[in-house]
Amino acid sequence: MPLVNDVHSRLNPIEVESIARPNSADDVAGCVRDCIGRGESLAVSGHRHAMGGQQFASGRTLLDMRALSNVVDFDVDRGLLTIGAGADWRRIVVATRSQDASGGPAWAIRQKQTGADELTLGGSVACNAHGRGLAMGPIVEDVESMSLVDGRGELRRCSRDENRELFELAIGGYGLFGVIVDITLRLVPRRKLRRIVRVLDLEDAYAAVERHELDGALYGDFQYAIEPSDDSFLRRGVLACYETVDDSCSVGGDGAGLSRDAWLELLSMAHTAKRRAFETYTRHYLSTHGRIYWSDSMQLSTYVPSYAEFLGATRGAEAVDESLVITELFVPPARVLELMVAARAILRRSRVEDIYGTIRSIRRDSTTFLPWARDDFACVILNLRTEHSPAGVERTRAVARDLIDAAADLGGSFYLTYHRWATRAQLLRCYPRLPVFLARKRALDPNGVFASDWHRHVATLLERDATTLRSGA
Ligand SMILES: Cc1cc2nc3c(=O)[nH]c(=O)nc-3n(C[C@H](O)[C@H](O)[C@H](O)COP(=O)(O)OP(=O)(O)OC[C@H]3O[C@@H](n4cnc5c(N)ncnc54)[C@H](O)[C@@H]3O)c2cc1C
Repeated sequence: MPLVNDVHSRLNPIEVESIARPNSADDVAGCVRDCIGRGESLAVSGHRHAMGGQQFASGRTLLDMRALSNVVDFDVDRGLLTIGAGADWRRIVVATRSQDASGGPAWAIRQKQTGADELTLGGSVACNAHGRGLAMGPIVEDVESMSLVDGRGELRRCSRDENRELFELAIGGYGLFGVIVDITLRLVPRRKLRRIVRVLDLEDAYAAVERHELDGALYGDFQYAIEPSDDSFLRRGVLACYETVDDSCSVGGDGAGLSRDAWLELLSMAHTAKRRAFETYTRHYLSTHGRIYWSDSMQLSTYVPSYAEFLGATRGAEAVDESLVITELFVPPARVLELMVAARAILRRSRVEDIYGTIRSIRRDSTTFLPWARDDFACVILNLRTEHSPAGVERTRAVARDLIDAAADLGGSFYLTYHRWATRAQLLRCYPRLPVFLARKRALDPNGVFASDWHRHVATLLERDATTLRSGA
């Protein structure tokens, strides 16, 4: 049986029955109907970056969607791009630029995830991803409509006006309501942006961001210091904001990030010399202050999935199998300082290392059925260094749970995509609609064709509630 795993944490080795790689909507519908006919189930995967087993189901068929990545339609007048759900962000950006020569409007994606580009649009929509927009909700805001093969094997178009319930459930629905075949993204005019970089304490960052927003900043984030013994730990940071500028300004570079080698070196330093890593990062960012970028290529990023091998190679005999597990917490903006105080204490006490992390903002999502952005939130992202041993994983799991409690105590929540370590109480507290979400899944997928290890885990945890909600009420 093929063995698969997630790309980033590599903590989800799972044997699947077989891997199907559909090339068309008909192929997808055929796979789903075949599974229904055999009384089997399947999981859907994109580029396999989710870390809680959302994209795999042990012993079941895996539908690898990456071949479905072609442009289906580009309405250049309205800025609507329809593209296969298996397309990744570089492909999508290329597609949005494909009509530039025609003299029509220059379109761009509005947002994408910040840490990596090799993420499929289907995977991004299925977790309802977000980028570094300052006044944006998650990606659901950018989805005009999508085609999806449902639990009966039927291809259906979903939007705010058509099959609305499926639209609201499938976005942020982790592949449990159907296989998304293609998505129509609402694009925005491509803009030139000036990067403004400041080094400051988090206490001052919000006022600074507000000022930059008034000056026309559309994007921004705050990358914080990571040396636990310093006063600056999780407090001082590099604020980068992106303000709109006149089209006559000259763009200073294509990408906005570090080169692959510089990124690897910095990441390695963040493991061994955290203070120096932050200083180096700060120097790099300050050197780009004032530079002009395109609003789409500014969002592309450097990511090396094999960085763990690189780190292992640099350490020789001292190398241990390890990776980074991301945790993302949400709190009302006014409570973010309290969250960072709590996070500081939790990390110092546990000695679990945060290798890098940022703070961003998100606006409330009032569309999806299971929203993580239940309100306007500050988003705190941590990359927790995790040794691949039972004790190492347990240490990070305990920290992740403490961090979730800290966020929940402040009226916040956490992101489901990064692990499945939340307790039953935490899931119910942060996602009160989860039992009904699971009940809708049973009602809309009566054959139970869509499966994942994450779904099995969550459904089992909530079983008591699930029994009473079986009717789909
Ligand atoms: C380094 C890194 C940086 C990240 N940065 C961010 C960030 O800045 N912002 C953010 O919001 N998230 C971020 N993420 C999380 C990431 O956006 C999600 O995990 C996303 O789902 C991964 O996309 P993927 O193509 O790898 O999907 P996979 O991991 O393969 O699948 C994820 C989920 O999507 C479902 N799915 C995939 N394709 C389809 C489809 N065609 N139809 C239906 N369901 C489907 C799967 O069943 C699964 O439930 C980051 C993750 C990593 C590892």
